[in-house]
Amino acid sequence: MASQFDRIITLVRIVSCMSAPTGSSRRKKRSRQSGGMTSDAVVASFVACPRCSFFLTGYRLINTDFDTAVDESVDGWLDFSWNHDTRRLILKNFGYRIDTETTHFEGICQDCRRVLIFKDAEEERESAMLRVEIVPG
Ligand SMILES: [Zn+2]
Repeated sequence: MASQFDRIITLVRIVSCMSAPTGSSRRKKRSRQSGGMTSDAVVASFVACPRCSFFLTGYRLINTDFDTAVDESVDGWLDFSWNHDTRRLILKNFGYRIDTETTHFEGICQDCRRVLIFKDAEEERESAMLRVEIVPG
């Protein structure tokens, strides 16, 4: 019985050793590319404004690329993917109707003045995107 238990403990140790380097290299990558900002810090800056907080919560419920957007953020801007649900979230939370004919749009949150920029795809291989300021002002 005891040796069986030891074997399990050894196995658990091996598994945790194997997963540890992956976790730390992910963190290293994140802090380098987003100027030290973690997903939590980005969320905290949105939570300060109820309107932006609702928008981000909705976005994270329907899109899975929030962490990627944080990882790849440049100069304090997040590139969110554009789709039907993101379009509805913008309308619902900020009151801006961005229809299918819109090619470029700039708006701000009426409460915290966070800037939102919509840019339609210029070429067919590109996709439309929504650029959102991480820290307003
Ligand atoms: Zn806001």
